[in-house]
Amino acid sequence: MTTITARGVRHSTMWALVTILFVGLTACMTNPATGERRFSLISMEQEIRMGSEADPQIAASMGIYPDDGLQAYVSGLGTAMAATTEWPELPWTFRVVDDYTVNAFALPGGYVYVTRGILAHFNSEAQLAGVLGHEIAHITARHGATRLTRMQMTQLGVGLAMVLEPRFQRIAPLAGAGMQLLFLSFSRSDEQEADELGVRYMAGMGYDPEALISVMETLRRVSEAGGQGRLPEWLATHPHPENRQDDIRAHAAALGPQEYRPERRDEYLGRIDGIVYGPDPREGYMLGGSFHHPTLRFVLEFPQGWTVINQKQAVISLSGERDASVQLTVSDEASIDAAARNLYDTEGVDGPGLSRTRINGLPAGIGSFSVATEQGPIEGSAAFIEYDGRIYQLIGYSAAGNWDAYRRQVAQSLESFRPLTDRRALAVEPMRLDVTRIASAISLNQHYDAYYRGVRPAVSIEQIALINQLEPDSRLETGMLIKMVRGSLPR
Ligand SMILES: [Zn+2]
Repeated sequence: MTTITARGVRHSTMWALVTILFVGLTACMTNPATGERRFSLISMEQEIRMGSEADPQIAASMGIYPDDGLQAYVSGLGTAMAATTEWPELPWTFRVVDDYTVNAFALPGGYVYVTRGILAHFNSEAQLAGVLGHEIAHITARHGATRLTRMQMTQLGVGLAMVLEPRFQRIAPLAGAGMQLLFLSFSRSDEQEADELGVRYMAGMGYDPEALISVMETLRRVSEAGGQGRLPEWLATHPHPENRQDDIRAHAAALGPQEYRPERRDEYLGRIDGIVYGPDPREGYMLGGSFHHPTLRFVLEFPQGWTVINQKQAVISLSGERDASVQLTVSDEASIDAAARNLYDTEGVDGPGLSRTRINGLPAGIGSFSVATEQGPIEGSAAFIEYDGRIYQLIGYSAAGNWDAYRRQVAQSLESFRPLTDRRALAVEPMRLDVTRIASAISLNQHYDAYYRGVRPAVSIEQIALINQLEPDSRLETGMLIKMVRGSLPR
């Protein structure tokens, strides 16, 4: 499927993982990282398979951040650390995903992900090492295998009947859009164990565990500031932050006196200079009620007041009551007819078929359909639009009983798809980190005012203070490197 834009693993992935989990044989095994005997549902071979099957789907749905140098840097650090653990032979894989949220997560079997969003909030290599160590620890201590059942299934509470209807996934593959990633919500004891092991791993590489405490503090601040309107997902996947800073200090102290290497602040900031910051508008943004997609060069109106969720593989809107949806995907099929056949040939889907038409000058087919699901009948409209060498599939639906209330709004949305021609919209650029060197001692406030003199600041002084792990009135010494943000989002 052609990418549209980012966040979240497809619902089908979740089911695949759940299925794998319960097919697994029950076995009691010794955990080499902790020496504990643990009741585990699945073998390490199965964990590796789970990870290797989910990894391409994470890559497809979140996107891999397109910077080979940065990928190699993170991967190099992670791989070196993983080699020092109790499971050096796992197929260790470290990826920077193209997601602005502040998050890091691990899959069973050796897969670790950090978002570009969390990288923008670190201020040294030691901080990155601390988070990598923690995520590696969830894998070596095999927390995923025991906790996978506690996945956070939904954040938006999508109440649509077809969400749990596997048959419908084929035509509305992202009906479960609310399900952000396969979040493993770890228990308090898992978090404590990952902190303890992670501290050991980072210290073993020569990094001072104090750096992990700075990260914890930053995550707390991001959470408090509401981080661009969203909580850092890291807190959702890694709950129970209370007392962790004290515990990390205790774990570090338990290692005895250590000689730590420099934290590599300037080197790290050099690595992230210029990375994309915040949502990437090239992959879609809302402006004046319209959804613009500069990369794929289209505009679309969703029904007024509906929530729009922009993912790599679909754009999904949900009614206020969460009982109706309009979803845009790119069909795998090469023609309107083939894409429509895909819909109408799905078991349980009925409809009169497609009427050929044009939508805003583009070749298109429109048709209604109904689906019998275990949760009751669903009615909807579909439009297939040929544009720029792709077949766009727009599907709107609700429970049959509510369809009359939504039919008109959905039709208007489906018929609003049109080419994006506005030059300014097409040329939109994301915001980027800009690492600046302080020429002479100054406060962060003063540096901020000087940097944005004559232009509208991209972000607030509070945001700049947060990503630099400073306060607005912090004193900056000559020669110090400070992260700023250049560019601005469409407004
Ligand atoms: Zn954790």
